[in-house]
Amino acid sequence: MTTVLRTTAPITEPTPAPPILPAGTDPLLRLEYDTRPPTGPGATRCLSHPHELAFRGIPATCRACRARRDWMLINHGRRVWIRCRCSNQWLEPEISRADFDALITSPDITNYPSVEDCLAALGFDGAFAGIYLT
Ligand SMILES: [Zn+2]
Repeated sequence: MTTVLRTTAPITEPTPAPPILPAGTDPLLRLEYDTRPPTGPGATRCLSHPHELAFRGIPATCRACRARRDWMLINHGRRVWIRCRCSNQWLEPEISRADFDALITSPDITNYPSVEDCLAALGFDGAFAGIYLT
């Protein structure tokens, strides 16, 4: 498990209707997570994903260091980014907010005041570039 400092993001934006989660989530996509309820669409939500991550049969690969696992997924609004340990990060259009929600195996998730806080807390700020911790 990843140890994460818990911080609270004071978000005041209205909460939309929750997305409908697709059935049959791949068990390989189960994530480690820490707990903190999402606070709304303005929240930045981060998930560590130590395993390979494949959408539509194509595994995600870091273009910078060719890593194929140990990701962090960042959700803000409707967009989801994949970030590598090497600090390379890209917007992944194949992952929707609903997909992100489907990867959460609990209604609880960690929220951070900013992506930077999240990256530092999870060790994705480049400090562990090239190092697999799992
Ligand atoms: Zn990388």
